[in-house]
Amino acid sequence: RMSAGKDAPMLTDAAQLISSVETFVFDCDGVIWKGDTLIDGIPETLDMLRALGKKLIFVTNNSTKSRKQYGKKFESLGLDVSEEEIFSSSFAAAGYLKSIDFAADKKVYIIGEVGIQKELEQAGIQYLGGPEDGDKKIDLAPGSYMQHDHDVGAVVVGFDRYLNYYKLQYATLCIRENPGCLFIATNCDAVTHLTDAQEWAGGGSMVGAIKGSTKKEPTVVGKPSTFMLDYLANKFNISKTQICMVGDRLDTDILFGQNGGCKTLLVLSGVTDLKTLQSPDNSIQPDFYTNQLSDLLAAKKV
Ligand code: PLP
Ligand code: CA
Repeated sequence: RMSAGKDAPMLTDAAQLISSVETFVFDCDGVIWKGDTLIDGIPETLDMLRALGKKLIFVTNNSTKSRKQYGKKFESLGLDVSEEEIFSSSFAAAGYLKSIDFAADKKVYIIGEVGIQKELEQAGIQYLGGPEDGDKKIDLAPGSYMQHDHDVGAVVVGFDRYLNYYKLQYATLCIRENPGCLFIATNCDAVTHLTDAQEWAGGGSMVGAIKGSTKKEPTVVGKPSTFMLDYLANKFNISKTQICMVGDRLDTDILFGQNGGCKTLLVLSGVTDLKTLQSPDNSIQPDFYTNQLSDLLAAKKV
């Protein structure tokens, strides 16, 4: 087998990795849970890391829930995680708009689900679209056209299982016709695992549709963009070199960690298998890989 670069080594010294950082940033799906099922050994592993004084942060590209809704999900899985420790790409979209002082008299048009609505609401940002436009039909009678709100100053695009032509046209009109209208993507994941029977078109497919109609590139706030990493490093006053980013996906999680200068650990409990990691087509190599997060419990036995 030909290899482009140096393959990532398997993690053999968990204690050494743990002691080399102050903070662990965990991707959620594929690391903590799979869909609605907790992955083996997670409570024990998080307890051990907390007992060792590590700061724990959870980052997900899934924009369909708000930070508060994720708080409930952690609770329902029996995990003691507070809302302030959770960063979703829906929260990031609202955080980004706040960080640029998005004008109070402007509105956001949403392609996406309830998570984005709730986060914008929490941030005091006016919005329209999203689930409300899920059943809307277009009128294609001769001469008909769609009206749109000229106060829309940003379109936020995330994963939307109720995407339709009405939403595509509305978002396109806002970006093309409202001067300075921003185009923000929560994430560009190509596929997601709605069921484990197959891969399903991900947030990248909705973002791609609007790229196609506007010929514009979005500002991406989810992984691998470092927006969330910069945001949380700033918020908690932590140095990014003191972070170990743990994820199951190379082109989002591991790249996110590497873009921020963090240590990176790939777990094989999600979408990436050893064959993909070691394929000559893959150029993203984490510092270490291991089967699942609970392998860190080996540090306890030393
Ligand atoms: N986007 C959607 C719609 C998803 O369903 C998922 C995973 O369930 C993701 C993104 C990726 O989430 P994470 O970053 O937690 O792996
Ligand atoms: Ca993941």
